[in-house]
Amino acid sequence: MANELDDIRAQANCPACGFVLNLTYKTLRLRRTVECQGCGETIRPIDETPIGKVQALIDDVNKAA
Ligand SMILES: [Zn+2]
Repeated sequence: MANELDDIRAQANCPACGFVLNLTYKTLRLRRTVECQGCGETIRPIDETPIGKVQALIDDVNKAA
């Protein structure tokens, strides 16, 4: 079943170089790793994104719905 929140976009900074990473909620939800476009480091964005920030994004979508 598709998760309607998966298209929510969040931004997080690479812990290694500070490059701004554009992430989807799906990446966070599945705890996927991504490769930083700035330095090539493989990071796990869920560890770098405050859960409150993610929740705020979800709340915004729920309000709009
Ligand atoms: Zn980086």
